Amino acid sequence: MAGAPSGASAASGYLLETPGVTLLIDCGPGVVAALAKRDKLRKLDAVIISHRHADHCADLVALAYARLFPKPLPPLPLFGPTDMLPVIEGLNALFAIPSLPSLRQPLSAALPFTPLAPEQRYDILGVALQTHRTQHPVETLAYKFPCVGLAYTADGRLTPELIAFVTGCPTLLAEATYLASTEADLTTHGHMTSVDAARLAACSGAAQLILTHFATSEQMKQSVREAQRCFGAARAAEPLACITLPG
Ligand SMILES: [Zn+2]
Ligand SMILES: [Zn+2]
Repeated sequence: MAGAPSGASAASGYLLETPGVTLLIDCGPGVVAALAKRDKLRKLDAVIISHRHADHCADLVALAYARLFPKPLPPLPLFGPTDMLPVIEGLNALFAIPSLPSLRQPLSAALPFTPLAPEQRYDILGVALQTHRTQHPVETLAYKFPCVGLAYTADGRLTPELIAFVTGCPTLLAEATYLASTEADLTTHGHMTSVDAARLAACSGAAQLILTHFATSEQMKQSVREAQRCFGAARAAEPLACITLPG
């Protein structure tokens, strides 16, 4: 879900499990409780954040506490755009517990941060990663994982550059914040509609489109219906849905 968790779902958070590595992509409100419920918290190897909007990173505090208390777990590498840095420093200052040595700098202690630059290639614990800056009000990175053929748009407008970036990925995880039928003006807001996401999938040659970042369950259903008119292999990223990546 976009914005806040609901009874139906946490906010943005996706688990990418390869044979050797488990990566959490985004950590929005409700994600840590959902992971804990499925006994996945200790299985994470790294966390990658797309941008500093709360619906994508607000649960980093909960994750840091869960990793540090009562018994500290090894530091979990955290990656994201450069402007996550002041957010991390701010959270450290706001949520420190000076009387507990492990929680004096909770974010930095639990989740040591490495900034990622746009339009770069990285190796994250053996998993190849490529980045692209999207058109969104804050520094936002779309991510591509060529080894599993997955691209995640994060938040941002449909642009020719985004199409070029995701081209070649069979599986596209794309935001569809708005319904095409609501005719929202997205020129400065930096989001896609259901039909934008479908166009992105069609233009990039994707085999499957997974829509995400909805406000309500009802919107999710309508978004899938709208997208399927342009791109048949569209579905929603539902909680607990497990998707096999052919990549
Ligand atoms: Zn955003
Ligand atoms: Zn968002």
